[in-house]
Amino acid sequence: MRNYLKFYIDGQWVDPATPKTAEVVNPATEAVSGTISLGSPADVDKAVAAARRAFATWGESSVKERIDLLEAILAEYLKRERELGEAVTEEMGAPLSLGCGFHTLLGKGHFSTALEVLKEFKFEEQRGATLIRKEPIGVCGLITPWNWPMNQTCVKIAPALAAGCTMILKPPQLAPYSAQILAEILHDAGTPAGVFNMIQGQGSVIGNALSTHEDVDMISFTGSEQVGVQIQKDAADTVKRVGLELGGKSAWIVLDDGAFAANVAGATGGMMGNSGQTCSAGSRLLVPAARMDEAIAAAAEAANGVTVGDPQGNFAMGPVVSKSQYNIIQDYIQKGLDEGAKLIAGGLGRPEGLDKGWFVKPTVFVGTNDMVIAREEIFGPVLVIIGYENEDDAVRIANDSDFGLGGYVSGEDADKCRAVAKRMRTGAVWINGGFDFHAPFGGYKRSGNGREWGEYGFHEYLEIKAIIG
Ligand code: NAD
Repeated sequence: MRNYLKFYIDGQWVDPATPKTAEVVNPATEAVSGTISLGSPADVDKAVAAARRAFATWGESSVKERIDLLEAILAEYLKRERELGEAVTEEMGAPLSLGCGFHTLLGKGHFSTALEVLKEFKFEEQRGATLIRKEPIGVCGLITPWNWPMNQTCVKIAPALAAGCTMILKPPQLAPYSAQILAEILHDAGTPAGVFNMIQGQGSVIGNALSTHEDVDMISFTGSEQVGVQIQKDAADTVKRVGLELGGKSAWIVLDDGAFAANVAGATGGMMGNSGQTCSAGSRLLVPAARMDEAIAAAAEAANGVTVGDPQGNFAMGPVVSKSQYNIIQDYIQKGLDEGAKLIAGGLGRPEGLDKGWFVKPTVFVGTNDMVIAREEIFGPVLVIIGYENEDDAVRIANDSDFGLGGYVSGEDADKCRAVAKRMRTGAVWINGGFDFHAPFGGYKRSGNGREWGEYGFHEYLEIKAIIG
């Protein structure tokens, strides 16, 4: 059992202003795995005051001081990487190989990428008679979701520190453990008091107190569209900057060529990773209508081959994060059936042999782009395959979405893939499994307005000043 009852404020572990606790449930066993404290606005006031005091010096720190701190954090992170991965597995149910693999790799990748960027970053630039300075925006509220906890916290903390900002992290209530360990890592690395603060609690309380706070300069939020809209409204009265990283319904276009079946299988497996709980997951698989039978065979085989079970065991997929997410996903599967989508793998209920834990069957439908299951973010292992007539039609279907976070193109000819990618109205398009820590990440349309990762992530935390003459 984990008992994380203190908050990290002003360089110390402190009790909440008013004692209140909540249990944390292990999604694989449905058993209580620990307890956290739930904060109140008084805790937020205290943390914001500490961050404001610390900004006076950290905001003026040298690049060398910031590099030294990021290097020290990375060193502490590496010492506790396994522990972080185990915490991710326990809190949100990712298989241990994933929790201690890609989950923690993403976290350390953001710190090492921020270091690389910081060493080259130009905070000042002379343009004619004008000196352009990029200055830290100030005190930042960082609000994060549960689905890739280490990715989402580190992708904010690393560039915010590098930019010279101070911050208050509000981790997700469902997955609070890894953030607690991360706060210990920042403490052990010698982060100056008040530069980084962490308060656990409810979004409607702590998140709201940060969004409305007079002395918070910026909110960086990753989460659902609904909460993102609310935060923007809450932040409007104090005219603070709001960076939003929201949901998606990304299209994965498989081109008509010799690698077709393998690419369909790869896209299907990709969708099931992290139990489908990835904002940029390719949840609409677009295939040539003329090759639908082949696509169905390849996708069904791939989905049926995804093993589901105890995240501590040797399975490819664990549970989804909570009972409520499980129920939402079941409702969507029922909707798919009701609106006449053809079920080719998975379906309602838990996988055979699993009667405890929030396990969902890897599910694949064949449908059309106007169906609810093709329009709304399900955030579970549910894929819908849609047929296209030609490449123009594929691009049209891909762009016919309220969201614009990610896109994927698979095909033998990389130039052809890139030509299709250029026509997709999304913040990123991955071609044949490409991956780059320096590539900006963020959404068009209802997927948000921010850009994180690499150098673009720095700009989220910087103001631009012109000194003329
Ligand atoms: P959520 O919006 O419910 O919660 C996200 C965070 O916001 C949590 O810490 C929560 O406590 C807090 N929150 C809730 N209400 C709040 C309020 N009124 N004011 C301030 N904060 C509040 O999202 P979730 O269920 O934790 O995560 C899943 C969602 O996140 C999905 O929609 C997914 O697509 C999205 N997501 C987006 C990205 C991206 O980079 N675009 C990445 C991962 C997840």
